[in-house]
Amino acid sequence: MFHEMRASDLVKIDLHGNMVDDGTGQSKRVNAAGFTIHSAIHMAREDLHFVIHTHTAAGIAVSAQKQGLLPISQHALKFYGHLAYHGYEGVALDLEERDRLVADLGTHKAMILANHGLLVGGRTVGEAWNMIYYLERACQAQVAALAGGAELILPPEEVRLKTAAQFNRNPGTEHYDMAWQTALRLIENDTPDYRS
Ligand SMILES: [Zn+2]
Repeated sequence: MFHEMRASDLVKIDLHGNMVDDGTGQSKRVNAAGFTIHSAIHMAREDLHFVIHTHTAAGIAVSAQKQGLLPISQHALKFYGHLAYHGYEGVALDLEERDRLVADLGTHKAMILANHGLLVGGRTVGEAWNMIYYLERACQAQVAALAGGAELILPPEEVRLKTAAQFNRNPGTEHYDMAWQTALRLIENDTPDYRS
């Protein structure tokens, strides 16, 4: 299970999915569908050194909604005009899907995989963490807001664009990395042997 994973359980692979010998002699397997998705991004986007893909309830729920991510929260507005969508094609075992994943992502760093989940990338692990944190929170907020059944407030277009620009005006990753170090302390406090 995920909470049982330790650093020594991870595998190092090349861009063709072949395991790079880690010298331990242990036999491990690579998740083929996970490889298709992650390798697609790594092969095409040299700026995105870290790729995170999740199957959370809120992410899957929004991925199944035709309207996509609604501009109804500050968290969602970080992605206004900066979010890609990719249609569902089944479990990602077909390597040819990589071309379509990359084409759909374009120059963005975040994408909703329809009927499947969320995908983000970052220049640093901190940036990738920040992206998935905000996208996940935006999805949680959307699911909760729609479940309430009340009429939603959608900010005017100029406010949406302004907010997205505010989020994206800092080209550096220092503040992302600071938040990542903070997030790391959650696992350090909870499961300190994750490094083993
Ligand atoms: Zn997946």
